[in-house]
Amino acid sequence: MSKSKTVKDYIRTIVDFPHEGIMFRDVTTLFADPRGFRMAVDQMLHPYAGQRIDKVVGLEARGFILGGAIAHQLGTGFVPVRKKGKLPGATISQEYKLEYGEAIVELHKDAIQPGEKILLVDDLLATGGTAGAGIKLIEKLGGEIISCAFIIDLPELGGRKHLEDLGMDVHVLCE
Ligand code: 5GP
Repeated sequence: MSKSKTVKDYIRTIVDFPHEGIMFRDVTTLFADPRGFRMAVDQMLHPYAGQRIDKVVGLEARGFILGGAIAHQLGTGFVPVRKKGKLPGATISQEYKLEYGEAIVELHKDAIQPGEKILLVDDLLATGGTAGAGIKLIEKLGGEIISCAFIIDLPELGGRKHLEDLGMDVHVLCE
């Protein structure tokens, strides 16, 4: 009997994307497969079954796909953290470092109430810069982050340590 597939088996690597020397971990193949997508969503939310979570916050853009499915399963609301200029209402902003330069992410001011329990989700953790910015936004509004969940961690880039140093619980499905 063949070994059953794991989440990792559904992820493909695209060499030299978005530029030379980068091995891009492409989760669209995981999302496109009915068993793969369900497995990823189920494994991401499994640790939080029975825990109080009020909102799932997803990071643009693949965090929206996962976050929507996880929020639906947990029976919570979903809140997007978006790149600058995309959210229509009053926002708060957070700058963070990219490999070259800086970027800004935003969150609606009224999206989280003080004391709400938050699960932060994205597809991949690299340096932790994006998730770190999301954490700052949530905490500025008084949200209490229960955990940060990702499909993939790239351990050599130090993102997990960065988030753990911020006091976060980090849950990943594969490295
Ligand atoms: P970080 O801010 O941790 O350095 O980078 C993580 C962010 O960049 C995430 O929002 C993630 O979606 C995106 N990202 C960086 N590299 C990859 C990759 O190889 N594959 C995918 N799917 N996303 C990536």
